[in-house]
Amino acid sequence: MSSVASYAMGMEIIHLGSGSSGNSTLLRSDETSVLIDCGFSLKQMESRLRMAGVEPTSIDGVLVTHHHSDHSKTALRASKNWDAVLYSNLETATRMGWEPIVECRTFGALERIVVSDEISLLPIPVPHDDADNVAVIASNGDGRRAAVVTDLGELTADLMRHLSGCSHISIEANYDHDRLMSGPYPEVLKRRISGRGGHLSNAQTGDALSEIVNNNLESVVLCHLSERNNAPHLAESEVLMSMEERFSGSIGISLQSGPEFSNWLGQSEPERISSL
Ligand SMILES: [Zn+2]
Ligand SMILES: [Zn+2]
Repeated sequence: MSSVASYAMGMEIIHLGSGSSGNSTLLRSDETSVLIDCGFSLKQMESRLRMAGVEPTSIDGVLVTHHHSDHSKTALRASKNWDAVLYSNLETATRMGWEPIVECRTFGALERIVVSDEISLLPIPVPHDDADNVAVIASNGDGRRAAVVTDLGELTADLMRHLSGCSHISIEANYDHDRLMSGPYPEVLKRRISGRGGHLSNAQTGDALSEIVNNNLESVVLCHLSERNNAPHLAESEVLMSMEERFSGSIGISLQSGPEFSNWLGQSEPERISSL
């Protein structure tokens, strides 16, 4: 395969924003654009897409990981307005009141979703509250893979196995354990966040990445940081410390505000997105 052809198979990962007020990640190849989650207002979704240089109507698919509104809020309206296919599992469709076949295409656990011959998505169930949440492993056709993993209390063996084959991993680092425990949240909420159905702490994410890290891993983006119980420098330093010198790729942080950078599979350094 010539280098031009392999470039055409590339995939770009752009975080339009992440956190408890909204999440959406754009995966883009030459001819295909798909969103993982659609948790901002439609106006915000469209302006963030345009900041990333993407016309909203060019979106081919929107996959919703679970029904919580910071991931699902405007997915149905967006899919209709942009003429994009809406994907979710049956539990999420039911909780959202979406009608399968008519309004959304449902998938089963570990059932490969072929968006186009450039991008396919593999949903992997993860434990999270009362939701049937999934992590997503995206493949771009030349064997490279990217993961988008948010809203889970712990990493399953299945997920760890799939993550170890990824070139790019976007994963939540929701809270700093000490900040959560010494903070103002009521005990019951602290227990819920740190429990099996809650979110990953910086330490959990660091431990997982230190187990996974190998030469294929080019870039990591930490996302869904709690504004009250975490800080970018805490998340980044804890995760980097866990991976030690075994990780030679780049690390970035996706915050609640709009897209700041993009990662390309096959390229460890992120590219800045310059807002006009
Ligand atoms: Zn969330
Ligand atoms: Zn959630």
